[in-house]
Amino acid sequence: MHSFCICNNPVLPASKIYCFSPFILHKLETVLSIRNISKRYGKIQAVDDLNLEVMKGQVFGLLGPNGSGKTTTLSVILELIRPGSGDFQWFGQPPSKASRKRIGSVIESPNFFPYLSPVNNLKIVADIKDLGYDDIGRVLNLTGLYERRNSRFRTFSFGMKQRLAVASALLGNPDILILDEPTNGLDPQGIAHIRELILLIAQQGITIIIASHLLDEIQKVCTHVAVLSKGKKLFDGEVSEVLAISDSYELSAENPAALSESIKAFPGYRSATVAGEKILVYFNSEVNPGELNRFLFAQGVILTHLAERKRSLEQHFLELLRDNA
Ligand code: ATP
Repeated sequence: MHSFCICNNPVLPASKIYCFSPFILHKLETVLSIRNISKRYGKIQAVDDLNLEVMKGQVFGLLGPNGSGKTTTLSVILELIRPGSGDFQWFGQPPSKASRKRIGSVIESPNFFPYLSPVNNLKIVADIKDLGYDDIGRVLNLTGLYERRNSRFRTFSFGMKQRLAVASALLGNPDILILDEPTNGLDPQGIAHIRELILLIAQQGITIIIASHLLDEIQKVCTHVAVLSKGKKLFDGEVSEVLAISDSYELSAENPAALSESIKAFPGYRSATVAGEKILVYFNSEVNPGELNRFLFAQGVILTHLAERKRSLEQHFLELLRDNA
C-alpha cells in the first residue's frame, strides 16, 4: 500500500501536514512550533537558536544533560519567561489566553496544602483555573489516587504527590501536557507508575512534552525526541528512527582496500571507520548480514570477519554529545 505526505502545499493551511493513503485521509496538526528561540542569562547561552515542531498525538521528549536548556525551553513556551529572540506558536497561532487553557503542566516539585485532602487541594486548583469540580473524580481515577481521595496530602509518598501534580495539570482536560523531569527523585515503583500514567494519558490522545536527562525514560515512553546540548538542538526525529540508524557492522577482508571501496556502494551505507585490522561500517537503515556478504562477494571481496554491532540509543546520544562537546 502506498501512502505519501504533502507538506508545504500552498492550498493547505501551513500548520497542518496531510497524510493520504488509498484508505485513509487524516491530518497531522502542528501543536507547537518553536522558531529560532534563543535565551541568554548573562554569559550563559541557555537556549541557542532552537527550532522544534511538535505534532498532535506525539509523546515528545526533550532529552539533554543537566544545564542543556530543557527547563528554560519549557519556561519560554509556558510564558513564564520571555525569550531573548525568536517566537513560538501553539496550534498555529501566537500564544493567547485560549491556548493557555489547552495546556496543563508540571514543571516544579508538587506543592499542595499539606493538611488538605487531594479532593480539597484540587478544588482550590479548579477555583484558580476557573473550572467546576466535576472533573476531580476523573483525574483522581486516572492517576490512581481515587482510593486515597480523602487522605491528607502530607501522608502521601513522593510518587503519589507527583501523580497528584499530574492530576492537577489534567483538570479541565487539556490537549497538551508538559512534564519537566517527571520521575526525578522517585523510587523504581514510583517511576513505573509515572511511566504507565504517561502512556495511559497518551492513549487518550493528549499530546505530551517531557523534558528528561534519562535516555531510558525517553526510550520507554516517547514517540519523538529532540536531543539538546548547551542549548542547541543536536538531533530530532522519531525514537524508532534513532534506533534504526543504530546498525553497524565490523568487517575485515583479505583485501582491506577493496573492502573499503566496495562497501560505499552498498544501499544505506553511511560511513566507515578503521579499527585496526577491521573496519566499522555504519548504515542508515537495517542491514541483512547475508545480503551484505553476498553483495561484497559479488564485488570480489572475500570477508574474513563479519560481526553485527547494534548501537543503543544511549551510545548514539553519548556520541552526539561527545561530538558536540
Ligand atoms: P536541569 O535538568 O539541570 O534543570 P536543563 O537542561 O533544564 O537542566 P536549564 O535549567 O534550562 O537546563 O539551564 C540551562 C542553562 O541556563 C544552565 O547553564 C543554567 O545554569 C542556566 N540558567 C537557567 N536559569 C537561570 C537563571 N535564572 N539565571 C542564570 N542562569 C540560569
